[in-house]
Amino acid sequence: MKLYTCNACRYTFPAETLPDRCPDCGKATANVKVCIGGKNKLRSVPAIRESTDTEVAEYERIKKEIEAELAAEEEQKNIAASKIDYTIRYITLLLQHKLQQDEHNMALILGYSFLTLPSSYIKGFIHSVLEPDQADRFGGASASSLPDRYTEFRRRFSSELQTERRSLGDFEYGELYLGTWEEGTLFVDEESVRVLPTQDNLNPDTPALNFMKYAVCDEPVLCLKTPNLGTVRHIKCKDIAEHPSEEYLAFLRDVYNIM
Ligand SMILES: [Zn+2]
Repeated sequence: MKLYTCNACRYTFPAETLPDRCPDCGKATANVKVCIGGKNKLRSVPAIRESTDTEVAEYERIKKEIEAELAAEEEQKNIAASKIDYTIRYITLLLQHKLQQDEHNMALILGYSFLTLPSSYIKGFIHSVLEPDQADRFGGASASSLPDRYTEFRRRFSSELQTERRSLGDFEYGELYLGTWEEGTLFVDEESVRVLPTQDNLNPDTPALNFMKYAVCDEPVLCLKTPNLGTVRHIKCKDIAEHPSEEYLAFLRDVYNIM
């Protein structure tokens, strides 16, 4: 494989043999300036010739740039896919535990927080919830600071939700949410309606909304309308910090094991 350049349009490309015309502009001949007897004259020559060293270097440079861009894009896609994968596992796990409204919604907020904060911090946090007396040993929060941590998680989550809503626009935000119910698998038992998370109903650009879609408004039925931020704002962080239910602790133990 050799590199050739078109005299007419300067396109440089690889080919097995010298082509008779340019694959880009289609020309077979080109007028080039040649110096004859001290004067510049135009002469018609074949359009395609072998590339010069400068053209080869330029071609290699651009090729490397494009490859680096593609690799970065691929990397971004992989990161987005693994975040969606984590979200699906997390929500599926949550739906297996029947938590009361505030704990369920807080668990969603934690899911978002776990996705966006360093895992060492999260592990320390879970340790503090599961074993408040031992929290110091794991670099976790002391039991007395847990309500503040919960409040902080809740604030970050609300703020991200509003950012996502602004970036999508109200209409698309509402549509995206409703789409979940139309496309998702409906899971109905005696007292609840559930939609299992799938690749299709989660959007990598809206990490908080992905969790919020599974918020419980009026226990134990999930919201069938655009997420209501009130359900998040009114979570009683102090109660969750001071009196966590056994089921909630069991859920966090399971989460710890999938991290
Ligand atoms: Zn050309």
